[in-house]
Amino acid sequence: MAARAQCPYCGVGCGLELKPPAPDSEEPLWSARGDRHHPSSLGQVCVKGATVGETLHHNRLTTPLWRESTDQPFAPISWERAFTILVDRIRATLATRGPSALAIYGSGQFLSEDYYAANKLLKGALGSNNFDANSRLCMSSAVSGYARSLGSDGPPCCYDDLDQADLVLLIGTNTAECHPVLFQRLLKRKRKLKEALQLVVVDPRATATSDAADLHLAIRPGTDLALLHGLGNLLLRDGGVDQAFVAAYTEGFEELAALWSDWPPARVAALCGIPEADLQRLAELWRRSPAVLSLWSMGVNQSVEGSATVSGIVNLHLVSGQIGRPGTGPFSLTGQPNAMGGREAGGLAQLLPGYRSVADPLHRREVEHYWDFAPGSIAPDPGLDVWQQVEAMERGELDLWWVAATNPLVSLPWLDRVRAAVARCPLVVLSEAYAGTETAAVAHLLLPAAQWSEKSGVMTNSERRVTLCPAFREPPGEARADWAIFAELGRRLGFADQFCWASAAEVYDELVALTADRICDMSGLSHGLLAAHGPQQWPFPLGTAAGGGQARLYGAEGSPFPGAPAGHRFPTPSGRARLQADLPLGLAEPPCNRFPLVLTVGRYLGHWHTMTRTIHVARVRRSHPEPLLEIHPADAKRCNLDDGCLARVSSRRGELSVKVQITDRIRPGTVFLPMHWGAAQEQACEANRLMHALGCPVSKQPELKAAAVQVERAEIAG
Ligand code: SF4
Repeated sequence: MAARAQCPYCGVGCGLELKPPAPDSEEPLWSARGDRHHPSSLGQVCVKGATVGETLHHNRLTTPLWRESTDQPFAPISWERAFTILVDRIRATLATRGPSALAIYGSGQFLSEDYYAANKLLKGALGSNNFDANSRLCMSSAVSGYARSLGSDGPPCCYDDLDQADLVLLIGTNTAECHPVLFQRLLKRKRKLKEALQLVVVDPRATATSDAADLHLAIRPGTDLALLHGLGNLLLRDGGVDQAFVAAYTEGFEELAALWSDWPPARVAALCGIPEADLQRLAELWRRSPAVLSLWSMGVNQSVEGSATVSGIVNLHLVSGQIGRPGTGPFSLTGQPNAMGGREAGGLAQLLPGYRSVADPLHRREVEHYWDFAPGSIAPDPGLDVWQQVEAMERGELDLWWVAATNPLVSLPWLDRVRAAVARCPLVVLSEAYAGTETAAVAHLLLPAAQWSEKSGVMTNSERRVTLCPAFREPPGEARADWAIFAELGRRLGFADQFCWASAAEVYDELVALTADRICDMSGLSHGLLAAHGPQQWPFPLGTAAGGGQARLYGAEGSPFPGAPAGHRFPTPSGRARLQADLPLGLAEPPCNRFPLVLTVGRYLGHWHTMTRTIHVARVRRSHPEPLLEIHPADAKRCNLDDGCLARVSSRRGELSVKVQITDRIRPGTVFLPMHWGAAQEQACEANRLMHALGCPVSKQPELKAAAVQVERAEIAG
């Protein structure tokens, strides 16, 4: 029988319809196509979603594997033995070094139930807030930017806004390749409306996204916030400020206006390296457009000023009253399929379920009470974010680093330092669906995990829409759902009552009840309701009828907080949104004489993250057979490079060799590498090995988009 689920790749969260293999087929592959009934994607699908059925059975871990030391081979063990190892080691650590020596690094590939169980175990039962997720690398700047500007996390927009905007600003996002179904939706409308819909792209590279734009601002890396302030300067100068909205619904305008006045267009254009006329044109478009929508993703988030840049985008929407109406708003496009669900379940080191904070005593008390743990069980300080976990291992302060459903030995910055740090950790556990990943090479205990399609649970996509993803295949061998692994461990550690769930549906019931009266209220949702009525958007309080979720936040119709007054109210103490006046600081590692180019890292259309799935799809391999260094002809000439030759790219942290692609589609002074090819691949190209680990001081998101490098000729490729 066909199954319906959310696509397990990107944060667009398209609906898929999965069909079982024919009984007589040679390869038992499920086929996928777009689900016409899914409101977020209306039957559309990209190459990744369409080929997901080809990836599920390859190269799977099927039994727990153990080795005392990483220079030994793995040997199969039973789950019983695996849990005994975990229980003994966790108890020993708690007795000798305390809970802060335990850490888990999870994933936006988790279902919400996995996130919830892991957080309850580590933060509640064991007293360590050291649960972080790879969402830290993806959207933590969006979380903190929304929170500091609007009073809470939570994207205020929905995908229908793409159909109603007159101007769409795409900043720091190659939507065409990274969120393809959304981009196609936009493109279809652009072809129909032509000039009536204006697309403006801000990106140092020309991409498939900028090819469709009316205006492409190829700014210097690290100048996004200056550009936004320059835009604010022109709105201020030319009457683009909605004074009534600012007066009624915001605070901090005087400080922001003073800051903007320091960023006149000539200064901004010179700093950004763009024609002043282009900035003027963008400002005029913004000022004249009835509905302005901004989309962004990693190009904004992965920056030392990620949170400030998110707030810079939100500032513009608030000051011009472009929020809370159809077609308007600051809309963060989430990278991973369930990073949003992670936010709801408290899946970062500073969070608790229901968009709560570990630093808030009331939030801790509420969660401790609900979880039935003694007051004071949850530690009062934010736990270690992922880079702090690496630093803690470096200092020998972590006894257990448990990685789940992610491959940090490709995706983290400064990989040589990560490898050295991890080697100092006495117990590295990896729960993973796939065998042979780069992270498995540094682990002691491998736990075979059931993945999407083999376990039931929910995901939330970028527009706050929750989709039930039911199990429709059997997990291979002894693989188990992540939530069930954490729950079993919780019971064995003595918390039988807190982890007594019999199904993922019960885990979800517990999670949604904890969101009641929060901005992400999902207390009316359940597996049963989602199965019967399909995907739903939150807020969805208890008693909401199917289809009655709220499409937008912060509209004139009122706040989603029960009892809050009507009219663009924000969840801040004053009820007003907070305009943020942040001074642009630029790149953490600007180019210099020794490392004169800026390396930026990104994705190819067909590949997903570290290719654990997509490497198995022949069609994708053919489209992207190898990693290429994109470099402008002028830089290539200076570096003595020909098209197709081998270049050595080096930074302060390491070097790699890669084939060259000379293209005028990248800005002079900037080079590009894909992030997919890790050390385990035949054509290894560990782009993140070259990147530094400095991150946004607010969101702790590393600046994975920019590092200073030198490029020189290595040898002619055969
Ligand atoms: S756009 Fe994203 S969610 Fe949609 S099919 Fe492609 S990878 Fe999946």
